[in-house]
Amino acid sequence: MPDERIYLDYAATTPVDGRVRAAMGPYHSEKFGNPSSLHSFGQETRAALEKAREQVAALIGALPGEIVFTSGGTEADNFALEGIAFANENKGNHIITSAVEHHAVLHCCEFLKKRGCEITVLPVDGSGLVSPEAVAGALTPRTVLVSIMHANNEIGTIEPVAEIAEAIKSRVAGRESRVYFHTDAVQTAGHIPVNVNDLGVDLLAISAHKLYGPKGVGCLYVRKGTRLAPLLHGGAQENNRRASTENVPGIVGFGAAAELARSEMAEESKKLLPLRDKLMNGLLTRIPDVRLNGHPARRLPNNVNVSVKYIEGESMLLNLDLLGIAASSGSACTSGSLDPSHVLMAIGLPHEIAHGSLRFTLGQQTTEAEIDYVLEKLPPVIEKLRAMSPLYPGGKK
Ligand SMILES: *Cc1c(COP(=O)(O)O)cnc(C)c1O
Repeated sequence: MPDERIYLDYAATTPVDGRVRAAMGPYHSEKFGNPSSLHSFGQETRAALEKAREQVAALIGALPGEIVFTSGGTEADNFALEGIAFANENKGNHIITSAVEHHAVLHCCEFLKKRGCEITVLPVDGSGLVSPEAVAGALTPRTVLVSIMHANNEIGTIEPVAEIAEAIKSRVAGRESRVYFHTDAVQTAGHIPVNVNDLGVDLLAISAHKLYGPKGVGCLYVRKGTRLAPLLHGGAQENNRRASTENVPGIVGFGAAAELARSEMAEESKKLLPLRDKLMNGLLTRIPDVRLNGHPARRLPNNVNVSVKYIEGESMLLNLDLLGIAASSGSACTSGSLDPSHVLMAIGLPHEIAHGSLRFTLGQQTTEAEIDYVLEKLPPVIEKLRAMSPLYPGGKK
């Protein structure tokens, strides 16, 4: 460990792997050419860009030409939704999504609704799962896009994406215009196997900083033959799909991170699963009135999300932070507002339970000693907070 603090918030972001940093280095200094320039400086960075495109494509079973680099996961999600909506205005205006999507999808849908799109937001069950039958049932002749995430960033539930693709396919078979299928794979790419053909998707978003790459870079996979209206208008970069001089160091880092993830992800899951289960089971057995959020089996190998009754997630977080433990609560994304997470509300938690939620996400540096430390330190913190809580039977009234 570089210091004494314990980082258990890998779903928010990951540190850049040292090997990724090393790969990026020269592109911050001597290899600075513009990839669009014809001279040798440009040729050098152009080659690096195309190598990164191959590395990222290989991670998800895509063709290099199907990868469009973006400024991150948010831009990739926005590009998928707006790109399809605006390119298909003459065919339809209906988009289907779910209540547990990242705000990069949900807020984009709200924007598109103001621009004349019709949006169906499907509910999820108590473990966060979207039903493939519900997706098929929501399709109309005006539907142009379905957007369902691969795994949820808060509760870790892995959605039945391949089954949803099948359900869409059989429902629209024989139909003239296409229904495109997008998935936000920001929490899965580089962590569990992701293959665009096995999943049956046309569009898929990835962010580098969630897989030990740099911040501010990501990509959208765009299946060959899919027309998208561009978000940015300018030069001819990214095959005319995204104007602006490419973030070469970032893209090189993304490529290196993708290649490392591809060769190391199986080993990483094997290490993380028992640690995750130790933390999960430890919390559930050592603390009374705790529930696990998300699906017990269909979940990311690094995610633990629990609701602790009678107290606030924020007060637990701050107390943990004083002990050097970094986690996340169910309302951090809407800081400043009192609304609990839309994901926890969507799985049916009452307000007061959703407010008492904590997310731990494990990663590369996580050790068993760290998990033991959390299991030792958290129960007394909860006991102390509950003793002060007016909600707690037996606590202060
Ligand atoms: C982090 C995250 C995003 C946003 O990615 P950025 O690169 O930070 O814009 C989108 N979707 C999910 C599921 C995420 O976890």
